[in-house]
Amino acid sequence: DAIANQIAAGEVVQRPASVVKELLENSIDAESSKIQLIVSDAGKNLIQVVDDGKGMSETDARMSFERHATSKIRTSQDLFNIRTMGFRGEALASIAAVARVELKTKTESKELGTSILIEASEVKHQSPDTMNKGTSIAVKNLFFNVPARRNFLKSNPVEMRHIIDEFQRVALANPQVSMHLTQNDKEIYNAPGGKLSQRIVHLFGKNYQSQMIACHEETEWLKITGYIGKPEHAKKTRGEQFFFVNNRFIKSGYLNHAVQGAFEGLIKDDQHPFYALYLEMDPARIDINVHPTKTEIKFEDERSVYGIIKSAVKQALGTHNV
Ligand code: ADP
Ligand code: MG
Repeated sequence: DAIANQIAAGEVVQRPASVVKELLENSIDAESSKIQLIVSDAGKNLIQVVDDGKGMSETDARMSFERHATSKIRTSQDLFNIRTMGFRGEALASIAAVARVELKTKTESKELGTSILIEASEVKHQSPDTMNKGTSIAVKNLFFNVPARRNFLKSNPVEMRHIIDEFQRVALANPQVSMHLTQNDKEIYNAPGGKLSQRIVHLFGKNYQSQMIACHEETEWLKITGYIGKPEHAKKTRGEQFFFVNNRFIKSGYLNHAVQGAFEGLIKDDQHPFYALYLEMDPARIDINVHPTKTEIKFEDERSVYGIIKSAVKQALGTHNV
């Protein structure tokens, strides 16, 4: 029912960037090799994601907007165990409760695809459509029926910053996928699928080519890969700092402190180095008492994780034995 959907939507969809995150992750789950994000007015009027993934059948397309009764997971251990990014089966239902959604989708085997128009959880139109394999979801007039939320949206630059943050996180977690972003018809990113180092250069600039140091460490239970920026290129601003655990972006002030500590003596206290670090570990080592939808997580032995990250970064910096 519409009201329940609208209430639940509040948890999943807080701002345009929340929609971007869910749609991009769905495209990743659909095994797309190419994903295009189109936004206008910082997502307030249009957020569209076009992918070349496996698409949906006519029935699945309709079903995708129904809130799933049961969750696929119970704990965050499951969360970090499962192969797909999605698990709650409520993102599309939540988005469709507070916007106008146009879905077009086609699977490999079908001649025709399906086009569906949904507004405030109501299917307004469904028809067969010619299209290529893949899915396009356009979210228009976000929060048109929730004025309180619409009024609380921040300025376009602020909302766009959040969108770009989400885009960068997905792009860094999936460098093999070609990813494209346009805002108000202006190209912001055009990153072909390739190696992580190339992805970083496409996202942050050509000068990163010479600024990156590879980072690699492997213990019995933790593997760390990725790149750190050279100390002389540290910036006064935070924001180009990324941790992924089992390929999921996470925020951790604690682990950030470990990296910052490894740079001690090489950068000033108010400077922040670039890093994109990927941790792989048994999900059983991740604390289950953390809410699955949050990007913050806890490790069972976070002091060890801290120590291993710090020494890995120090080693990469070549200051390990200094
Ligand atoms: P979840 O991702 O948690 O399963 P969502 O509401 O995000 O829930 O999506 C519901 C379902 O719709 C997905 O499980 C998937 O089957 C289908 N779906 C959504 N987006 C896409 C897409 N871009 N390509 C193919 N299938 C999709
Ligand atoms: Mg999803």
